[in-house]
Amino acid sequence: MYLIAPSILSADFSRLAEAVAVAEQGRADMVHVDVMDGHFVPSITFGEKLVSDLREKTSLPLNVHLMVDNPEKLIPGFLEAGADWLSFHLEVTPHVHRLLQLIKEAGRKAGLAINPATPVDLLGEVLEELDYVLVMTVNPGWGGQKFIPATRHKIKKLSQLIAERQLPILIAVDGGVKLDNLSTLF
Ligand code: ZN
Repeated sequence: MYLIAPSILSADFSRLAEAVAVAEQGRADMVHVDVMDGHFVPSITFGEKLVSDLREKTSLPLNVHLMVDNPEKLIPGFLEAGADWLSFHLEVTPHVHRLLQLIKEAGRKAGLAINPATPVDLLGEVLEELDYVLVMTVNPGWGGQKFIPATRHKIKKLSQLIAERQLPILIAVDGGVKLDNLSTLF
């Protein structure tokens, strides 16, 4: 099974509602919202208000990916804004378990994101707590980058780990996924 979650990072930011409508018509399963803070990554994108505004405009689940430092400060606001799926980066906080609980207690899907250089073995201790793992297949920070082929073995390793423990965890592949490489990801 796979789900398609187009990122609004690729859209014209002055016409985001239209872009989401196009994704809906194209039968996207959810909308991926890349939040960048100018600290964890150099770029800045948008915050909670955009999520609450989009929440009014679409029935698709909003899959919010926080590429931010100090996610503990922002997670409550994004939950309130209506993020249905919410992930933050393993690299930025020592409070992974607590933040995952916070997301799950709000009845949302909790995910942990990892950069291309972060080994999947580091997820071992919290795997049971996760609804999904977001594997970055480009370096976080900009849209439109090329898929890093070396990340393929991480996806495979992670799916083996999940299968071994028989956990109902989804793997999100984030970055450089296009029609011509989609089939190589499974
Ligand atoms: Zn993302």
